Amino acid sequence: MANWHQLRKRIHVLCFLIFAVLPFFNVVRFDIPRQRFYCFGYELWINEFAIIFFTLMFLMFIIVAASVVFGRVYCGYLCPQMIFSEASMALQKKLRRWFKPRERLAAAAFYAILAVASVFLAFIFISYFVEPRDLARRLLALDIRTAGGISGASVTLLTFLDFAFVRLRFCTTVCPYGYLQGMLGDSSTLLVQYSEAEGKCIQCMKCVRDCPMDIDIRNSPFQIECVHCGECIDSCNTILARLKRPGLIRYTWGLTASRFALDAKRVVLMLILVFYASGLLVALSARRPVLVRIEPERATLYRMGADGRVYNHFRYSISNRSHKPAAVVFSLGDLPGAKLAMSPNPAAAAPGAAVQGEFDISAPPGGHRDLVTHFNIVTNTIPDSVTDTFPMTFISPTEAP
Ligand code: SF4
Ligand code: SF4
Repeated sequence: MANWHQLRKRIHVLCFLIFAVLPFFNVVRFDIPRQRFYCFGYELWINEFAIIFFTLMFLMFIIVAASVVFGRVYCGYLCPQMIFSEASMALQKKLRRWFKPRERLAAAAFYAILAVASVFLAFIFISYFVEPRDLARRLLALDIRTAGGISGASVTLLTFLDFAFVRLRFCTTVCPYGYLQGMLGDSSTLLVQYSEAEGKCIQCMKCVRDCPMDIDIRNSPFQIECVHCGECIDSCNTILARLKRPGLIRYTWGLTASRFALDAKRVVLMLILVFYASGLLVALSARRPVLVRIEPERATLYRMGADGRVYNHFRYSISNRSHKPAAVVFSLGDLPGAKLAMSPNPAAAAPGAAVQGEFDISAPPGGHRDLVTHFNIVTNTIPDSVTDTFPMTFISPTEAP
């Protein structure tokens, strides 16, 4: 007989470890000050729209698909609000038992432990948005003047108030996910259901006493408060096992099915997930660690130099999104007699740096019959030896001055 409580507690511990570890290894982290999105070893720049778009859409449809198929199982098994609320309630209960009958001592110990835990949880949470070592420095300096310090202090206070007083009330009042689930679920979504098909209820009320949301599952499997945690299933199984009878509450796929059914809606959802996952993979594989951009400066179309040559002005930017130093060599193609005046060439970019600069291209007067001559600027990025060709135009007077 499955023990959902044990399974849930193991998943809670695993989720907590994942939550605590992810930001320290940049597995998933959105660094606001540096404007970087870290995703499974990739350091994405905020302007890498395609990758961020596909990642967010993929994650959003994972949530939608999980809600359609598994209902509120996310709430009961994976949601941090549920995990920490239950942990806070369990701690309070334990302390009351230990310090009995000294209620005030139990309360003081509870709030002291919760205050330390709130600092720790707030630190981890903000680490998803601010570099953890930088955050630790601010915390040790008790910084409550900079934006990072103020956010840290506010999140700590909110965490403390949440897990001291709000807890699971959050799920039935503030959190929109329960209401969203009402729209996403259908007749085959996973439910926790009470049925007397295999015997009569003995009215022991254990399922009600053990429900973290304080509801009676016997009233309806569609109550908005039910987070599909399965605690009432364990309770009923345990009580009726003593009478050698099967429990009356179980997980079912919709009201009638005992097996998962793959219908058209679920197939479409799977296809959408495959689409966004493929888009993400393509965007990641097409990603250039060093991105070079070149644009002509057209405020002045051309200028005549003292040496009699025609000059066009260009700007470049190099974004080194890799973890190693890079340099870019600029050269010209298909523009006979032209010279590229750029210093330094190659242009260097440190890891994670964005470098900008300007250069001139000059050509002999009258060397080009047309006003506009098409040519290429070729860049070679070292050490990866990636060559890019940028089609450009050179503008010169149609007649020699
Ligand atoms: S009714 Fe059962 S499944 Fe729903 S929240 Fe209560 S204990 Fe969990
Ligand atoms: S635990 Fe089972 S037997 Fe007891 S009240 Fe709940 S449904 Fe009835």
